[in-house]
Amino acid sequence: MNYRHAFHAGNHTEVFKHGALTLILEHLLQKPAPFAVLDTHGGIGIYDLFSEEALRTNERDAGVNKVFGKKLSSAPMYLKTLEDLIAQSLGVYPGSPERVRHALREKDRLIVCELHPEDGSLLKERYRKDRRVSVHQRDGYEAVGAMLPPPEQRGLVFIDPPFERKGETDQIATALQSGYRNWATGIYAIWYPIKDAILGDRIANAAVGAGFKNVLRTEFCPYRRDGVTLAGSGLAICNPPWMIDNRLQRLCQELAALLGGTRTTSALKAGDKALGAVPNNSGF
Ligand code: SAM
Repeated sequence: MNYRHAFHAGNHTEVFKHGALTLILEHLLQKPAPFAVLDTHGGIGIYDLFSEEALRTNERDAGVNKVFGKKLSSAPMYLKTLEDLIAQSLGVYPGSPERVRHALREKDRLIVCELHPEDGSLLKERYRKDRRVSVHQRDGYEAVGAMLPPPEQRGLVFIDPPFERKGETDQIATALQSGYRNWATGIYAIWYPIKDAILGDRIANAAVGAGFKNVLRTEFCPYRRDGVTLAGSGLAICNPPWMIDNRLQRLCQELAALLGGTRTTSALKAGDKALGAVPNNSGF
């Protein structure tokens, strides 16, 4: 496992991904019934934006640095977690488990998986005292088969892989099949990088192929897709919350104003023409 997320924390794909994540959390918080989140690829939770890794890439400059301190009315919770954390320590960026943890009420739960031994230990230590959070140093894809459905019967499975290995989309497809078998009514959000159009098509296809009837695909691209540059990123959301497409559209508009770029949100359903067989020449 070579991928280390510390090199990329706070870049433009993160700003979009975590903005969308907070919109899903806001939806879950609307009802008093408890919810659970399974974060299959957790990372280390909080990132130092002045670490050696972060300073080597400076990816935050075209990401969170352009958003911080600005008004983001489409995703207020996005900035809230950031500001709460910054109040404690300057120059840090909260990853997905930290975003979720900030949203949890007493009765809600977060289950996080992280396969990397060092990162897994760090994450365990970080959340040791929070009894709402359980951290597992294990394969997040397998956890989708083993840990669902949650007793709460409502919540989110957040799948945010590094895409460093060939066969990652096959693992996503298998996990979505187990997910649909075990918990067909859960919300599933799968993140993907955009260099070309292929990977997003394959993931949306995998979701529909697993059995999900309602799959929303949302993408934010500050740069041109040339097949090489990290142009942007997207999420395929199975069982998307009601009206989230409108909120995502607004989020993309606001981010486009701050970061530049295009914005797209589209709802794909089983049988859509857009979901034809897509060849796997994306390298994943
Ligand atoms: N979700 C995190 C966030 O938003 O802050 C970032 C996750 S990062 C893109 C991917 C993480 O997945 C890395 O920390 C990597 O070590 C871990 N990882 C890779 N393969 C995994 C697997 N099969 N199961 C669980 N974690 C894995």
